[in-house]
Amino acid sequence: MKKIGVLTSGGDSPGMNAAIRAVVRKAIFHDLEVFGVKNGYQGLMEGNIEKMNLGSVGDIIQRGGTILFSARSEEFKTDEGQQRAIEQMKKLGIDGLIVIGGDGSFRGAQKLTEKGFPCIGVPGTIDNDIPGTDFTIGFDTSLNTIIEAVDKVRDTATSHERTYIIEVMGRDAGDLALWAGLAGGAESILIPEKKEDFSEIVDRLNRGHERGKKHSIIVLAEGVGSGFDFGERIEKATKLETRVTVLGYIQRGGTPTASDRVLASRLGAKAVELLINEQGGRMVGIQNNKLVDFAFDEVFAKNHSFNLDMYNLSKELSI
Ligand code: ADP
Repeated sequence: MKKIGVLTSGGDSPGMNAAIRAVVRKAIFHDLEVFGVKNGYQGLMEGNIEKMNLGSVGDIIQRGGTILFSARSEEFKTDEGQQRAIEQMKKLGIDGLIVIGGDGSFRGAQKLTEKGFPCIGVPGTIDNDIPGTDFTIGFDTSLNTIIEAVDKVRDTATSHERTYIIEVMGRDAGDLALWAGLAGGAESILIPEKKEDFSEIVDRLNRGHERGKKHSIIVLAEGVGSGFDFGERIEKATKLETRVTVLGYIQRGGTPTASDRVLASRLGAKAVELLINEQGGRMVGIQNNKLVDFAFDEVFAKNHSFNLDMYNLSKELSI
C-alpha cells in the first residue's frame, strides 16, 4: 500500500473534517501518499481527485461539514459506475480507499472491495445508527445542538402553560431523541424502535398538569411521524395548548464537540492502520472506549440496538 484515497459520502456530519485530517496526517506519517476525492462516489467516478498534503488539512479540525464535500450517486450503485470509479483510482496508482459515511456508503465500499479494491469504512452520521460501534462521528455534536434548543424552549416554556413537542432527526434510529430526551428532562420520548402507548403519554401530561407542572416537553424522532400531526393529537386529547418545533438541518451543522473530534481522530487513524496491514472490506468502530473493526458483512447482518435501560430510566425519571 503506497497511495490511498479518502472521501466523505451520504449525509454529512460534524467531525468528518477531523476524520479527514486524521487520515491524511496518519498516512503521511507512515510515508503513504494521500488523495482526497471530492463529492463522494460521484467525484470518484468523475476523477475529481486531488493529492493532499499536511497543509490541506490544516485548520479544519474545528469545522463542521466536510472540506471534501459529500454527494449521493445513483450511478455508483451500478456495476459500470463502480468499475469507472476503480479505473479512476488505478490511473493515479491509488490502491486503497477510506470511506467516511453511513451504512449506505459502506455498501458502496463493500462493492468496491468485492471488485478487488480494498476499502475501509469510518462511521460518520449524526444518527448513531450503525451496528458495531457505540458512537458514530457527529452524534455527540448533534445531541448537544438539540440540548441547547431544548433548554431554550424550556426557558420560554416556563413562562406559559404549554406542552412543547420537539421533533429531531432519526428515521430508523431513535438515539438522538432518546439521549436528548434524557439529557433534556423530557416527559416523553418517542422513538421508532419502541411503540409508545398514546393514552399513557396523555395520562402523564394530565398528571403533570394536575400537580401544577407549568410545562411539558416531548422529544420525538422524525421516524415516528410528523411532530405537527402528533402535536394536534396531543392538543385535542389533553386540551392543553401545544407548540411544535422541528429542529431540521441545524442538527447537522456546527463546530464538532471535543468528543466527536477525538473519536474522528482515533477512527480515521485506525482506518489507515487497517489499509497499511492490507485489510479491506471492514468498518472501524469504538466499543467500551476501545477501537474495534468488523467485516462489512457483519455490520450489515446486525441491526443497531437502542439502549432499553436508558429508555426505561427516562420513564422512571419523568413520572
Ligand atoms: P449514508 O452513507 O449516509 O447512509 P446513503 O444511503 O445515501 O448515505 O449512501 C450514500 C451513497 O452510497 C449513495 O448515494 C450511493 O452512491 C452509495 N450506495 C448506497 N447504497 C449502495 C449500494 N447498495 N451499492 C452501491 N453503492 C451504494
